Amino acid sequence: MNQPRILDGKAVAATVLEACRNQAAALHAQGITPGLAVVLVGEDPASQVYVGSKARTCAELGFYSRKIVLPATTSQQQLLEVVRGLNADPAIHGILVQSPPPKHIDEEAIIRAIDPRKDVDGFHPENVAKLVLEDPTGFVPCTPAGCMNLLEVAGIATAGAEAVVIGRSMIVGKPLALLLVSKRANATVTIAHSRSRDLPAICRRADILIAAVGRPEMVKADWIKPGAVVIDVGINRVADPTKKSGYRLTGDVAYEEVAPLCAAITPVPGGVGPMTIAMLMQNTLQAARQLSS
Ligand code: NAD
Repeated sequence: MNQPRILDGKAVAATVLEACRNQAAALHAQGITPGLAVVLVGEDPASQVYVGSKARTCAELGFYSRKIVLPATTSQQQLLEVVRGLNADPAIHGILVQSPPPKHIDEEAIIRAIDPRKDVDGFHPENVAKLVLEDPTGFVPCTPAGCMNLLEVAGIATAGAEAVVIGRSMIVGKPLALLLVSKRANATVTIAHSRSRDLPAICRRADILIAAVGRPEMVKADWIKPGAVVIDVGINRVADPTKKSGYRLTGDVAYEEVAPLCAAITPVPGGVGPMTIAMLMQNTLQAARQLSS
């Protein structure tokens, strides 16, 4: 059996965060403290965990962070006012509204209300346009940026490679496809989605296969071209009575059967997940630099 190379997102993220810490120290010397505001509406337990770990990471890097927790009953207007306040606040360089908000909130309108210069999630239409235009002053969404960073650090050649991205969300699939096809990466990209015909055949073409769907262990061994690089973005909770929590995390790839066929693969957890927060910190530094220059 082939032993694939495990792309250790935890280790790569630790290196990125160390660099962020040093860059934050250099900004401190100029009287600038990078500041990130995270807004959480409602009490979704997974969101609370994410928000907590973002605040902790900020503290470790010497960033200023502000956590704003609003009740689930917060109106659209009240949330817009909070965002406008943060837009105008010079201590805040990055603004993130934790997704998903309660159903009565129009998430798209909230994203559009964030000052694009502080939109460290990279979801504002102005930043989406900059991604398409390959303008480096824009903010690249954190999870796709993390996937690209993992590939780069591992020295995986993307130029001319057949890349298949499963999933077309604005958070992962679409921006990742744009990054792969950019002049920096030069891959040949196929975007597959829920309406694609014969997904296994599309995947078998891939030198680099990226799964961003949200379906546990959907990608099977016979979908893989031997020697492919597989990036598993999926984070799924599946019931597991042997765990204290009652569940375990699994990706979109059937890891046990797929890994032996791969040249390299990301584990879940410990692959793409840790990269996302590291990229958020990088984006916040970029915002602090750009807003201060
Ligand atoms: P999403 O639900 O917005 O999008 C899922 C995409 O998968 C859609 O574009 C859909 O067309 C496609 N899809 C659905 N069923 C399919 C099928 N049967 N065949 C082919 N394509 C299908 O999800 P998302 O926000 O893009 O997240 C995807 C996964 O990545 C989730 O598991 C999520 O938890 C995970 N995620 C992880 C991170 C991280 O930090 N690692 C960050 C964001 C999302």
